[in-house]
Amino acid sequence: MFASLNDRVCIVTGSSKGIGRGIARRFGAVGCKVLVVARHVEGAERVAGEITAAGGKAAAFQGDVTSPESMDAMARAAVERWGGIDILCANAGIFPAAKLAEMTAADFDHVIATNLKGTFLAIKACLPALKARGQGRIVVTSSITGPITGYPGWTHYGASKAGQLGFIRTAAIELAPSRITINAVMPGNIMTEGLDGLGQDYLDKMTASIPLRRLGSVDDIANAALFFATDEAAYITGQTLVIDGGQVLPESMMALDEMGG
Ligand code: NAP
Repeated sequence: MFASLNDRVCIVTGSSKGIGRGIARRFGAVGCKVLVVARHVEGAERVAGEITAAGGKAAAFQGDVTSPESMDAMARAAVERWGGIDILCANAGIFPAAKLAEMTAADFDHVIATNLKGTFLAIKACLPALKARGQGRIVVTSSITGPITGYPGWTHYGASKAGQLGFIRTAAIELAPSRITINAVMPGNIMTEGLDGLGQDYLDKMTASIPLRRLGSVDDIANAALFFATDEAAYITGQTLVIDGGQVLPESMMALDEMGG
């Protein structure tokens, strides 16, 4: 049994839908005060409403992780409303596809600015408040794509997701004296609005390549994020957790065929 996270203040970037929504709802369900952050505030308000309707505590914030001013305002909003910040889930991310031959410098910059620099900006903005608490938790949403696997069209995305892991390893050392841990979840293919947009053919083929024979749920990722945020995970920092139904394990398509079942 884990100690209660009741009344801890938790910011989740990119939580109007998808994995972030799942994380926000999960933290809300265990009693955290959740700031639901997205560029389109209606979506954030919807999720904050879902959390409060279920008996939790939440508020929406219109924030853009590519903007330092916006991230500073986000951290201020949490502190003004609830007196501090205990947990940051740096989750906002985008995955537009472009093969190298067609990829423009602007395409590349946009993905890095959101996924990698956005992670940095969200963390930097929350650091003073996390430090003021005397301990803190940062959970970054990375991916298997980049750090472990590759997929045509996602060179920029893969670089951004691998970059997040390089970032957390040094950040973990720098933040250790403040008793702030930073870890990353690495989702495989998780059923979200974003993934749904890639089409049924993508979803079917992807399911067939996963040993557990299903796409992940947002709760699969939220549960792992929640674990990193617990008091019991206080001695874990700079680490990563793959949550992918075994997707990265088969050495070949033959290994999947041999599975049977
Ligand atoms: P999603 O369903 O498309 O949701 C993305 C969320 O991020 C939305 O709330 C979106 O809201 C927000 N967002 C996008 N750009 C933002 C910005 N500049 N500032 C603030 N919020 C922003 O995506 P998802 O599938 O849940 O992915 C979430 C994270 O998981 C990403 O980091 C992604 O790389 C990672 N991931 C996903 C999968 C998967 O299978 N789904 C697998 C591995 C890793 P607004 O548009 O309103 O801002």
